[in-house]
Amino acid sequence: MKLLMQDLLKLQTLEFGETRGARIAAACAELRTKIPAPVLAHYDRLRTRGKKGLAAVRNQVCASCHMQLTLAVVMTLKQGHDVQLCQNCGRYLYLPEETAAVETPTPPPAKSRPAVKRRKKTAAKD
Ligand SMILES: [Zn+2]
Repeated sequence: MKLLMQDLLKLQTLEFGETRGARIAAACAELRTKIPAPVLAHYDRLRTRGKKGLAAVRNQVCASCHMQLTLAVVMTLKQGHDVQLCQNCGRYLYLPEETAAVETPTPPPAKSRPAVKRRKKTAAKD
């Protein structure tokens, strides 16, 4: 279940990210094959309303709606045996510490890139 939440989080990050393109679409499609249909359906319902399907849990509080969660919910998340929905906003809950610990991708080479893409000079003046 931890893996499921990681896949779902990756999917959400990609789909709500600003980067688009064939590669992203392919990555999304691949992630979607890993995620069970009922989970995807719920995620998509929220997504079509412009909402994110996942919410991080911080200090036993849903980071999305700031509702206090029960200890049982947090414990279940820690054990990773089952998915948990926030009873207030209906999002899937995940513990960000764990996903951060497991997932350590190489940092993207951001910031050094210029904001505006330089176009190649098209020396086609009439
Ligand atoms: Zn919530």
